[in-house]
Amino acid sequence: LEALDVAAIREEFPILQREFDGQQVVYLDNAATTQTPDPVVDAISDYYRRYNANVHRGIHHLSQEASIAYEEAHDRVAEFINADGREEIVFTKNTTEAENLVAYSWGLNELGPEDEIVLTEMEHHASLVTWQQIGKRTGADVKYIRVQEDGRLDAEHARELITDDTAMLSAVHVSNTLGTVNPVSELVDIAHEHDALAFIDGAQAVPTRPVDVEDIGADFYAFSGHKMCGPTGIGVLYGKEHLLAEMEPYLYGGDMIKKVTFEDAKWNDLPWKFEAGTPLIAQGIALAAAIDYVEEIGMDRIRAHEEALAEYAYERLAEFDDIEIYGPEPGPDRGGLVAFNLDDVHAHDLASIMNDYAVAIRAGDHCTQPLHDKLGVAASARASFYIYNTREEIDKLVTALDDARQLFA
Ligand code: PMP
Repeated sequence: LEALDVAAIREEFPILQREFDGQQVVYLDNAATTQTPDPVVDAISDYYRRYNANVHRGIHHLSQEASIAYEEAHDRVAEFINADGREEIVFTKNTTEAENLVAYSWGLNELGPEDEIVLTEMEHHASLVTWQQIGKRTGADVKYIRVQEDGRLDAEHARELITDDTAMLSAVHVSNTLGTVNPVSELVDIAHEHDALAFIDGAQAVPTRPVDVEDIGADFYAFSGHKMCGPTGIGVLYGKEHLLAEMEPYLYGGDMIKKVTFEDAKWNDLPWKFEAGTPLIAQGIALAAAIDYVEEIGMDRIRAHEEALAEYAYERLAEFDDIEIYGPEPGPDRGGLVAFNLDDVHAHDLASIMNDYAVAIRAGDHCTQPLHDKLGVAASARASFYIYNTREEIDKLVTALDDARQLFA
């Protein structure tokens, strides 16, 4: 695989030229949100400058143009993740909303005290809190597949926990804290052997590697546009058509109906049945532009770039014996992020010192509080990489960390 032309890529992200106190920003918070390249910003402004209008119901030219672009954005997403078509692609606000849509629409209606929901200990709160609450409301038990010392899921435990009582397995594809790339198609297979449904949280996976939902076999799969060069306010729920067709709508209102009387209503076709009200028009169109952008670079090459940076960061951080790194050793089952702690320095203090060097990292529990409890820490610092990051930026992080050590020594 040919390496990314990072210098050329960086040209399309003017934000990366910003300076704070004379230092150029080193943006290493990509697992939280990525930056937006000019072509995507252009797609948004082009929409507002040239064809802004409400979709679906318009007869006039502007509405027709907006409708076509918005509807075709669903086709673009379907093609990108290899879904069967736009019927399987629901636009949501983000991964969290996709998770809630299925939990409310399917979970509340289908689950009962005899059922079990299986999650992993490394779930993001988007899935953990959602299914936990649906469990409380329906009486379904929630169980967690163990995370081993090495940051990987305990495969035997997964086989023990997923049984004929399991109704839903929800698992994260790539952990936003440990970086672990989970064997999702195997997990989905186990769920299916027991007639359970499987939901995969792809928020960190879709931006960083080729994802083929047919290959994975999951019933539902979700991701967010803002972590892959797209705008905020757009996420995707992929669902198998026959399941979405049977599910109750999550939100009611305009656009999601075919016919309404004073007594009752009939639902619109997929995916519009799940997109009540004026949808995320500009955001959806811009998501399609973001997909064009990352695919043009190449998802295989992006994955290779991520793995190489993660490996380099891991090795540089491992040079310090007072730094603890979480998650698996570098390799194909580690994504492009590294969470760590320096001795007993609070992660927030570390991030604050990094900020003095204009190095942007995350500090906190990264929406995985129970996992942090298990790791025995309240918080961790996290550096996460994307297509525009370089080894030199990781060197800057390491230099800043070294200075921080002196300060706290
Ligand atoms: N799952 C994972 C693994 C994530 O990393 C994130 C974002 N931190 C989410 C879900 C939630 O994404 P969003 O905030 O866009 O809903």
